[in-house]
Amino acid sequence: MRIINNFWNLVFIVAEVLLIAFVAYRESATYYSFDVFYCVPILHAARLSSIRALRRSDTQIPTIVGIFVGIVWTTGEFLAVYPDYPWNAWLLNVFARSVTFTVIGRVIAKVWREREFSRRDMLTSLANRLEFTEKFSIEQARSERSGKSYSLLFIDIDQFKSLNDEQGHHTGDEALKALSVILTNNSRAGDVVSRFGGDEFALLFPETDATSCSMLANRIIEVAKTDFKNKGWPIALSVGCVTGSGSSQSIEELLQIADGKMYSMKKEARAQLRSDGD
Ligand code: GH3
Ligand code: MG
Repeated sequence: MRIINNFWNLVFIVAEVLLIAFVAYRESATYYSFDVFYCVPILHAARLSSIRALRRSDTQIPTIVGIFVGIVWTTGEFLAVYPDYPWNAWLLNVFARSVTFTVIGRVIAKVWREREFSRRDMLTSLANRLEFTEKFSIEQARSERSGKSYSLLFIDIDQFKSLNDEQGHHTGDEALKALSVILTNNSRAGDVVSRFGGDEFALLFPETDATSCSMLANRIIEVAKTDFKNKGWPIALSVGCVTGSGSSQSIEELLQIADGKMYSMKKEARAQLRSDGD
């Protein structure tokens, strides 16, 4: 799916370059200059290379597009004044423009990539705690204005160490990835799904009251239970829900409440496990 998306993005970039070249060529005899718009496909290529990069070769997209833009721009100029444009000027301009756009594209891609990495959990690709905290502040400000409540869900996997010990660290990693898919599939587009680290996850449900939050939590618990059972993983989820509105409580206070509720559930699960063992 992503490869197809990448393909269509590349087609779009080529179309952008050709459209700008066509307009610049048509307007070359006027006072209007469209050359500055060549930055648009360069930015597009940098974004594609930083956010959607699938393979190592995807990081070469800014270079390829930079050279393509250099050639198309200069050739457009060449054709506009043909035959008065010397070949050595064509060569020099292609070189200078290709190098400039390639450098700009690569630098922007690097900045975007680093920004993305600093906000993502590498194993699951979910948001990390930094991203979660920032989105939470935005939601608090929105709630302050709208008066609508938001909810947080804090999740810790039960017996995760046992899974690692019994079936290996690799299976533990697979379980973390499977849970991240379950959480993403069972939340809405505007929700924030994050991994805080280890086996701890947190979700932010904007404009969600306590009843809806506990319904979402129950659904996640049930879906995860079935999935873990089918895969033969002796783990389950403990969750804690908390609902707030405005910015009267800090993220730390709300997480502490959710953590307390999660821990109560975990204690009950442990007691149940012990009584089943007896
Ligand atoms: P509890 O039921 O009380 O929650 O205990 P637990 O066994 O789930 O263990 P706990 O939550 O205290 O600790 C989480 C463990 O997760 C500790 C660590 O070995 C393991 N872990 C942390 N990060 C990773 C990771 O990226 N991959 C894997 N496979 N394991 C991890
Ligand atoms: Mg745990």
